[in-house]
Amino acid sequence: MKTLLFIETDGEKVLGGSLELISAVKALDAEGTALVAGNRAAADTVAALGIPVIFTDNATDYDTLTEVLSEVVKEENPDIVLLANTALSKDIAPRIAGRMSLGCVSDVMGMNKTDGKVIYTRPAYGGTVLEHIEVEGTAVVTVRNGSFSKPEASSNLHVTEKKVEIPVSAIKAKIVDTVKEISESVNLEEAQVIVSGGRGMGNAENFKLVEELASVLGGVVGATRPAIEEGWISRAHQVGQSGKIVAPKLYIACGVSGATQHTSGMSGSDYIVAINKDEDAPIFEIANVGIVGNAMDVLPVMIEEMKKVKEK
Ligand SMILES: Cc1cc2nc3c(=O)[nH]c(=O)nc-3n(C[C@H](O)[C@H](O)[C@H](O)COP(=O)(O)OP(=O)(O)OC[C@H]3O[C@@H](n4cnc5c(N)ncnc54)[C@H](O)[C@@H]3O)c2cc1C
Repeated sequence: MKTLLFIETDGEKVLGGSLELISAVKALDAEGTALVAGNRAAADTVAALGIPVIFTDNATDYDTLTEVLSEVVKEENPDIVLLANTALSKDIAPRIAGRMSLGCVSDVMGMNKTDGKVIYTRPAYGGTVLEHIEVEGTAVVTVRNGSFSKPEASSNLHVTEKKVEIPVSAIKAKIVDTVKEISESVNLEEAQVIVSGGRGMGNAENFKLVEELASVLGGVVGATRPAIEEGWISRAHQVGQSGKIVAPKLYIACGVSGATQHTSGMSGSDYIVAINKDEDAPIFEIANVGIVGNAMDVLPVMIEEMKKVKEK
């Protein structure tokens, strides 16, 4: 079984979700080739993880990357094209599938190979059910961040440079400028620690406790939709079905009930701590540690204790 991995970078380093694709290929016991565009150092990083790399330097945006990836898919003829489930890849994947008449499965959380066939598992209806999908022929698949582990260093493989001619007619949009909101420099998807606050935090003043714990832990602040709608924090921090899909090592949920629209975005976290005053709150069903209590009493204690640990 042959796979082609589209590896994305943030301009400097390889995104964690793209690195996980390498582990996905190993779990499937498949052959893999990676395509890296625009960042030669990232190509070397991936090759050092035991995957041969095709490197091209002339593609940077949706249009040009779609062109280059289609060309490489034609040449390599893989059984599966794997992309991380990022905004960029969610745009490119259906374009490739559409123009080449391939199957497309998005937001995949698991893959199982039986009798040479791969079954893809993905959430549906906001994460209330999981569906299992089989694709006839080549599948273009976006994989949810946190579904596979990061790969270990392996034998160093080669990087092949490739030039793909991109016809001028293929470029429909031209990026003239990129403006980054300060709040968007918060990278929830790549965070190792996230402290999230929900409606149970009560007001903007109390919500600062969530921010303080995140700061003491060197983490990032997340939020539920009601906390954002109340104006306690900007939308860039929303976790869930209509927000960001996250998979940190530690997720602390404060005053969060555990609605599926929220948990579908954070259930891939390695370790979940929940603070809720209602012992029957659904968040406790997925928490590794549940603290039944008033978040406004519990958080100051956690903050003080963590400060003491850090001072040692
Ligand atoms: C199409 C759609 C998309 C959506 N997308 C998202 C999404 O992306 N992300 C998202 O988060 N939501 C999303 N929602 C909203 C979602 O359905 C829930 O309404 C929301 O997640 C609930 O947020 P919450 O847990 O903060 O609030 P609530 O459900 O109101 O829960 C508050 C919790 O705080 C607890 N609490 C209250 N006071 C305290 C206290 N003093 N100390 C400790 N605990 C306390 C309560 O017991 C309760 O469990 C979406 C909804 C729809 C319909």
